[in-house]
Amino acid sequence: MTALSAPPRQAAGTLLQAQRTFFATGQTKPYDYRLAQLKKLKDAILERQDAIVQAAKDDLGRPEFEGYFEVGIMAELSHVIKKLKGWMKPRKVGLPLAQMPGSAWVQAEPLGSVLIIGPWNYPFQLVISPLIGAIAAGNCAIIKPSELAPATSKVVAELIESTFAPEYVAIREGGVDVSQSLLAEKFDHIFFTGGTRVGQIVMEAAAKNLTPVTLELGGKSPCIVDADINLEVAVRRIVWGKFLNAGQTCIAPDYILVKEEIKPAFVAALKQRIEELYGEDPSQSPDLSRLVSDHQFDRVVGLLAGEDVVVGGQHDRADRFIAPTVLNNVDWNAPTMQEEIFGPILPVLGYEKIEEAIAQVNSKPKPLALYIFSNDKALQNQVLSATSSGGVCINDVILHTAIWGMPFGGVGDSGIGAYHGQNSFHTLSHHKSVLKKPFWIDLDWRYPPYADKLEFFKKMISLS
Ligand code: NAD
Repeated sequence: MTALSAPPRQAAGTLLQAQRTFFATGQTKPYDYRLAQLKKLKDAILERQDAIVQAAKDDLGRPEFEGYFEVGIMAELSHVIKKLKGWMKPRKVGLPLAQMPGSAWVQAEPLGSVLIIGPWNYPFQLVISPLIGAIAAGNCAIIKPSELAPATSKVVAELIESTFAPEYVAIREGGVDVSQSLLAEKFDHIFFTGGTRVGQIVMEAAAKNLTPVTLELGGKSPCIVDADINLEVAVRRIVWGKFLNAGQTCIAPDYILVKEEIKPAFVAALKQRIEELYGEDPSQSPDLSRLVSDHQFDRVVGLLAGEDVVVGGQHDRADRFIAPTVLNNVDWNAPTMQEEIFGPILPVLGYEKIEEAIAQVNSKPKPLALYIFSNDKALQNQVLSATSSGGVCINDVILHTAIWGMPFGGVGDSGIGAYHGQNSFHTLSHHKSVLKKPFWIDLDWRYPPYADKLEFFKKMISLS
């Protein structure tokens, strides 16, 4: 790794101008350069694994095992390193008869400078994953990590500033003011991960400069549970996915819609599994994260008011701890059903007929993820075709997002655009159409005077 000493941080406009000048040299474009930078990034992450995991612990009380989810972004990096050469190859396109002879292809080119704004919940991987895409696509980048995960922000800053020159990849730490000073500049792409409200602010700022955006947002991801399942396995998977990172996961199952006939057994199984995974006193469990801030703690605890708490409910503000909590008999209009929970609270609602559950899901904005637990293929297909969501996982949770060959992104209120692996390369490239014609022949059917060529032209159209 080339160790660079951290340069003084310039103002956003000056920094972007330096990146423009560097980008214009063309150095970021060749395959060898991109590959070398990706490998440098991989080495830099490997060297700092412990610091990354420690930072997730400092910011979110993250257990070490879950801290490694941040480092797990290395899997994407390895995938991109392996596949990049193939992705960069121009894609040949066949010509219609009237265009022959000639050749046509689509060639990916980098956009320029990409602004990456990250959230606090997976504060390392959610800025590094878009960065992998930006580098793979041949761009420069500026990262703005979340100020609410300060320990991780510091680790990312040290990593970036010791690995890359700022005219190639730079970082600007700070809060809303820093974010807004960056958003005032004309970037070539803005990659934002965060809440829907801030997503709107980002898109408004981008519109002023006609800058394309990728918005990775949140929402309420439903989990539909049919009666025909392996209850033990299903509940274990749901409990893991919900209480991971104390529920502060954008694709966590937000609420359960369970077939009424198994609801009592389902709730009992939740209670049993939660105890098995986190012990009788979950505040003593080494495997539960904490809420990121007092503000988030107060907001999530506020959702418990007036609810039928059947599991958990204990909380301690000094420790920002909230026990894995299950709410039963939740009213569809309760506050907990009006906003993304983003904490360790799981409301359970029942349905009689699958059509009811589908209608309820469809009455809310399109979610980032949707989960179906069922062995009934017809029911699986019915839910798949009658609902819209960023992604779907059948009989499990979360894991669909760790398959690098699949796009990850929202739809409607849960986001615009997608990334991961080749999809990041695609999103952060311009796909340029090129047609090349030879000189040796120049048929004159398209040139005026048109009069005697019309019949031939009409025939050609009908043949195409
Ligand atoms: P947030 O929208 O509050 O903040 C995200 C980033 O935007 C931060 O870097 C912050 O500094 C910046 N920001 C905040 N207010 C701003 C403003 N007014 N102007 C400009 N920039 C501003 O989101 P968060 O609280 O950090 O993260 C939680 C949200 O992110 C949840 O809704 C969650 O679902 C979503 N999320 C989505 C994904 C995904 O991949 N789709 C992943 C993680 C989190």
